[in-house]
Amino acid sequence: MNEDKPTIHFTNTLGGKKEPFEPLHPPEVTFYSCGPTVYNFAHIGNLRAFVSYDLVRRFLDWRGYDVRHVMNITDVDDKMIRVANEEKISLTAVRERFEAAFLEDLRALNVLAGWGRSSASERAEAGIEAETELPRATEHIDDMLGLVARLTEREIAYRSDDGSVYFGIGRLPGYGRLSGVDQRELKSGARVSHDEYEKEEARDFALWKAWTPGDGDVAWESDYGRGRPGWHLECSAMSMRYLGEELDIHAGGVDLVFPHHENEIAQSEGATGKPFVRTWLHNAHLTVDGQKMAKRLGNVYRLRDLTEERDHDPLAVRYALMAAHYRQPLNFTFDGLKAAAGALARLRNAVVALADRLGSEDHHRRVEAVEEMSADAARRFDVALSDDLNVPEALAAVFDFVGELNKMPDLGAASAKVALDWLRDVDRVLGIGLADAIDRTTHRDADPEAVRIEGLLKEREDARRRKDWARADEIRDELAADGITIEDKPDGTRWHRQP
Ligand SMILES: [Zn+2]
Repeated sequence: MNEDKPTIHFTNTLGGKKEPFEPLHPPEVTFYSCGPTVYNFAHIGNLRAFVSYDLVRRFLDWRGYDVRHVMNITDVDDKMIRVANEEKISLTAVRERFEAAFLEDLRALNVLAGWGRSSASERAEAGIEAETELPRATEHIDDMLGLVARLTEREIAYRSDDGSVYFGIGRLPGYGRLSGVDQRELKSGARVSHDEYEKEEARDFALWKAWTPGDGDVAWESDYGRGRPGWHLECSAMSMRYLGEELDIHAGGVDLVFPHHENEIAQSEGATGKPFVRTWLHNAHLTVDGQKMAKRLGNVYRLRDLTEERDHDPLAVRYALMAAHYRQPLNFTFDGLKAAAGALARLRNAVVALADRLGSEDHHRRVEAVEEMSADAARRFDVALSDDLNVPEALAAVFDFVGELNKMPDLGAASAKVALDWLRDVDRVLGIGLADAIDRTTHRDADPEAVRIEGLLKEREDARRRKDWARADEIRDELAADGITIEDKPDGTRWHRQP
């Protein structure tokens, strides 16, 4: 890594301290984050976690690390089976429905992942090398059984009377140190068979669950008889399969600290005898209007409730989800979302204003001044993000930069280019569509058809402001006749050609 870059620090949930980040084999970083259980649509609380992971990954990419990111898809657990039974459909049908919806959400939120959102060459051009692997639990049953075998060989796991296999929490020292379970409360020998439970119920947990009639046709044959894996086992097995036995970073929502991550540590370290994860990152929870999301309150919002139903820009949702520090609880409100859209519009307007200057003369002193400003802002941006991903402070650096630019009259082409280059770089980390905005506005002049359309849209905008609805409609119809559809969004009008 470059010597004069700030040292990256993360707050490690294990130990609770802010520590310098030191990957095991730099420049490689192995990064595992817990993915969704695809039994339902993701709500914005879930999505906050995925946006947070994306920031970690983009930031490390941007800092020159070679990030290998894996995120699992949980497609077998108690909840999946419950939904399959309720709806009388197969587990695969449940997965297909909600996994597709989840990937759509990620794409809309500009969360990078490796399923073809952008081509490899596009990613390379953007300087992004990493792809996210999205392995499914049901496709790694053998890996999980392999872990069960290792744990039973070491006598850390044992079989119960019904043929299930349990992890004996008293058979491995240190159980509970991530979540701070009260050691006196540990009920070694007592068992808990469901996937989710409270700290007070910390008991031996199921690695392999013997088949019961409630499982229907969800079962795999194994040396332990017909059954299915416990939920926690998949993350140990899949992270090991793709990233090795020791991970640099493991991330998840704070609700996963116990029992999920505690049990992952136990399983992995029990099997390998090596420390499982160097840095644990957990994002705080999300409330809506100061309240916990709950069906009865009608405040469980999915992304499509905000975008399709209420016409919000998905990137404004992304902005709203990441603008608070990831370790701080986030209170989601519609005013906050409006403010996020406004902030995004300010940045996009700055891009448009800069692109407008690309044809004009410049002055070398002004170019130097803008170079210096962007170097200072870049340093401040990096220092902020290196300090445990302080996004609010990083955004402040960007807005201060834009504010300074606005005070400089008549920027010329060279200065505008320096500023645009920096904003494009910022977008590699933030992913809020600035690079797209730059491409759209700077390529505009090259396409005479686009210039004509933009001109008409501007005229329509003026007509609407004068309340000359007849002229505004006329322009819309004229464009429609040419096969151009327009869409009015809170931050301006967009257009696209009908296929
Ligand atoms: Zn997990």
